[in-house]
Amino acid sequence: MDHYCSTKFTDLQVHVQGRLLYNCCKAYPERVNLDWLEANPGRLFHTDTMLEDRRLMLDNKSCVSCHYGCYKYEEQGLPSARQKYINDEKISDPQAPLSDLSISLSTDCNLTCMYCSPEWSSSWQRDIVKNGEYLLDGVPVRQKDNWSTLWGKMKQRSRGTESRFFELLLREIKLSAGLQRVSILGGEPLLNNQLDQVLDQVHDKEIYIVTGLGVSHERLRQVLQKTKGKDVIFKISAESTGELFALIRHGVTWNDFQDRVSMVEQNGHNIKFISTISNLSLFGFNKFHDTYSGKHPILQNNLTDTAWMMPHVLDNRSKDEFIDSTQAKHNLPEFKAIISMIDKTPDDKHRANTGDYLKQFSSRRSINLDFLPAHFLKWCGLKT
Ligand code: SF4
Ligand code: SF4
Repeated sequence: MDHYCSTKFTDLQVHVQGRLLYNCCKAYPERVNLDWLEANPGRLFHTDTMLEDRRLMLDNKSCVSCHYGCYKYEEQGLPSARQKYINDEKISDPQAPLSDLSISLSTDCNLTCMYCSPEWSSSWQRDIVKNGEYLLDGVPVRQKDNWSTLWGKMKQRSRGTESRFFELLLREIKLSAGLQRVSILGGEPLLNNQLDQVLDQVHDKEIYIVTGLGVSHERLRQVLQKTKGKDVIFKISAESTGELFALIRHGVTWNDFQDRVSMVEQNGHNIKFISTISNLSLFGFNKFHDTYSGKHPILQNNLTDTAWMMPHVLDNRSKDEFIDSTQAKHNLPEFKAIISMIDKTPDDKHRANTGDYLKQFSSRRSINLDFLPAHFLKWCGLKT
């Protein structure tokens, strides 16, 4: 295996609330030592761990963080995040400047998107605390995985520590000479009162707000008043319509979502949609594409760490219906990519897990799944 990945040399994701550094977003995080950072200005993107990982990569060796994010999936014959960067220019300096910074201000979020987790959403955290873990194959998912210890510590954080890290982060942004792009993530960034401060600090960069629009119309109106006239691009997460949208992006209705997209458009911002392609989203992606592709670009995000939601984990009839109903779009790269992704036989374990997960997710939220095709529900054990 060639272990090189250019993203390791260019991208950093910072989780302010958890004091976590992800180099890159898919990699296993490290926890930043604030005393060390204070004494070492300009080193946020060049911690000892990051420098060592990059050296290992240049020697074509595996590192733990990327094993967690990519290599372990490739070893199982699954797609990984780094495959889209494979042709990027090779960087050979571990001290190369950071070009892409993503900041997760907090996990505050009103939604429980189906493929998300307590690591990123406070609503997911509340679900697990109130109703317990999700069990697939008798094994807990969504909580007791590799980062659960970090999440446990994060819950004990003090607000003082969080704001100290935030101040240091603003200082690091100032010192990052090569920084080109800044993405502000959540949870839901539109809920966060620190958003203004970050926008002021990064006004000379390419700025993205990554949102699920899971805020009230009133809150969105207030935020849009502050971003009006600013060159901020909204990256909005969505991939289906109607009841399916409300299931996958649980916490916001399709009608409210559409209204909020219109509000962002009317405020003069460019929009890019990020569509996460899963088995379920394939029941609605074509319609979503019809609704918005003429107005805004639709970028695809591929799942890597929820095996039971991979696009190929579908019955043959659902796959055939997707292929037949999208004939006119087969020359578009996004549809070509999906058709190639579903051309793989799902194993029985993932089929059963799809049904189990849907059952647990929908019963906790009292969602009736009858709008999904009966043959699919039967295939994954939810109907006789
Ligand atoms: S190998 Fe994967 S986890 Fe590592 S930096 Fe590249 S994309 Fe991220
Ligand atoms: S909006 Fe974002 S943080 Fe919230 S549940 Fe969805 S994916 Fe997770």
